[in-house]
Amino acid sequence: MRPAVIEARRTPEARLLRLTWDDGAVAELSYDLLQGYCPCAGCRGHSGGEITYLPPKQPITALSLAPVGNYGLATIFTGGCNSGIFSFDWLREIATKENKLVLPS
Ligand SMILES: [Zn+2]
Repeated sequence: MRPAVIEARRTPEARLLRLTWDDGAVAELSYDLLQGYCPCAGCRGHSGGEITYLPPKQPITALSLAPVGNYGLATIFTGGCNSGIFSFDWLREIATKENKLVLPS
């Protein structure tokens, strides 16, 4: 079974999101990083293929991060995208790609 996110906490002063998975892994992902990996069509165009990091044009703050069922988080960023949906799998992949994933020892 894939690890599920059991806690997602915003840290507005640091502009980052702290995630905890049920296998004990944690990651702190900055809003800028999340915006850069937003998987939505508006941010990506319709080219498909692998999602790569696109640096945001300005610093991102998060107006809202709301759960979407057991699937992921819907984000409303100011300075960036207001319709991103990040699956928990995708958040885990971003954390892994960026060496932000801290596994329990
Ligand atoms: Zn987007």
